[in-house]
Amino acid sequence: MSTWKDELKEILPDRLLTEPADCERYQRDMVADRTLHRLPEAVVLPQSTEEVRNLMRLASRHRLPVTPRGGGSGLSGGAIAAPGGIVCSLERMDRVLEVDEENLMARLQPGVITRELDRRLEPLGLFFAGYPMSEEICTIGGNVATNAGGGRAVKYGVTAAHVLGLNVVTASGELLELGGKRLKDVTGLNLLPLFVGSEGTLGIITEITLRLTPRPSHRGVLLASFPAVDLATAAVGALRRGGAVGEAAGEVPSAIEYIDGATARGAAAELWRQGGGIVTAIASPAEAILLVEAEAQSEGELAGHLERYSRALTTNGGKLLRGSDAELWKLRKAVPWWVKRQSGQWHSVEDVVVPPAEVGALVRRARTLAAKAQLPVAIFGHAGDGNFHINPMKPPQISEEEWEPILARFLTDLYQLARSLGGTISGEHGIGRKRRRYVADAIPASTLAAMQAVRLAFDPEGILNPGVLLP
Ligand SMILES: Cc1cc2nc3c(=O)[nH]c(=O)nc-3n(C[C@H](O)[C@H](O)[C@H](O)COP(=O)(O)OP(=O)(O)OC[C@H]3O[C@@H](n4cnc5c(N)ncnc54)[C@H](O)[C@@H]3O)c2cc1C
Repeated sequence: MSTWKDELKEILPDRLLTEPADCERYQRDMVADRTLHRLPEAVVLPQSTEEVRNLMRLASRHRLPVTPRGGGSGLSGGAIAAPGGIVCSLERMDRVLEVDEENLMARLQPGVITRELDRRLEPLGLFFAGYPMSEEICTIGGNVATNAGGGRAVKYGVTAAHVLGLNVVTASGELLELGGKRLKDVTGLNLLPLFVGSEGTLGIITEITLRLTPRPSHRGVLLASFPAVDLATAAVGALRRGGAVGEAAGEVPSAIEYIDGATARGAAAELWRQGGGIVTAIASPAEAILLVEAEAQSEGELAGHLERYSRALTTNGGKLLRGSDAELWKLRKAVPWWVKRQSGQWHSVEDVVVPPAEVGALVRRARTLAAKAQLPVAIFGHAGDGNFHINPMKPPQISEEEWEPILARFLTDLYQLARSLGGTISGEHGIGRKRRRYVADAIPASTLAAMQAVRLAFDPEGILNPGVLLP
């Protein structure tokens, strides 16, 4: 009797990796915890929807677990194979099939790198507004499968707001064609949103129709330091209405990002050493930093927005810091990498989300939790939409053996804190393998049962990304 490997060799002979050395780079994504890494039994690299269908028919016959994978930039271990399973990497399905300027839409294969799409759209004065801040390394398919939300979600919403159509291959190899180039569609049940954020557990996305957004011709960035966290979070409240306290509402900023003072200083110092010359004036008393971005269609309009946002910052005690727009964004984008370099695998990237008005309480109480647990914690994130990265790091006096239970206790408390404020455990990175054990506490039992029933309906054998998302 032929094995699944023999059959795979027959259907995808030159797009199959089986040697451990070739599969090595597919054993991890960007999750810090190395205990989650696993070498897949094989990696397949399909080039068409038909090849993905053939793969899933075979996998279904052999009950072979399959993990779809995009750029592998996920932070929750979602793109790592199940035990005895294989990875289906969509990296070779990387064509922009169409940019439809009349309809303001694009059709794409899932493996298109998010930044590559932006390079194609920039000269046309368009962009995909749901992109995450890992745009250089992630794929559009991964963005859809995680419902990614980036630095501009406060104005434009997350990826889901921009997905109009999907082609999806199910566990049994059926092709579902959902939505399309239509801004309105109430024909039949709307299954499309189920697949956005499904982390590869309901189907493999093989084609995406995205809504495109006119690109503003002018953008400007402000960076301000605050002597107290509460002052910074009070400014966030004013900025979300587009002006200072007491002023009439105005245009909402396209980004409102937060970095705690110590983390900003660390990242800025590292950039300085690398010759980046960025923001030398993040003085030590600064407890918090806010980055605010304005968008406009003319210089005059931009100046007006920036003036209002400056007032919202300075009337709350903020001190404006100088730097070009690119330099200021560079600081914000350097922060996750700086955190990673501080603690290697011994940290946890968290992304709890709370109602926007609760960001002050979240940051204040998370700092108290960290102090109680005696853990250094780097806090930054998308303050405008309530989604914060609260990242505990192992201090040197704690041994590697002691770290896991200490971290688990801190995460339990952090997730409980988010829930007590009306929030939840993940706003953008997803559950993956990393947070699965916490899901039962985050979702009411009957709601969770309904989710499990949906998963079973699409994948009765449980071969699509088992071990990810739902318990
Ligand atoms: C420095 C850094 C910054 C980041 N910033 C952000 C941010 O601002 N916002 C944010 O939301 N995330 C952010 N992330 C996390 C990550 O980049 C996003 O989750 C991204 O959308 C993952 O895309 P990917 O192509 O790398 O997917 P992968 O990591 O390859 O996969 C992620 C999940 O999607 C599934 N999947 C991938 N492709 C498909 C497909 N075609 N069909 C079905 N399932 C699929 C996988 O099975 C897995 O469960 C950041 C990560 C890093 C390292």
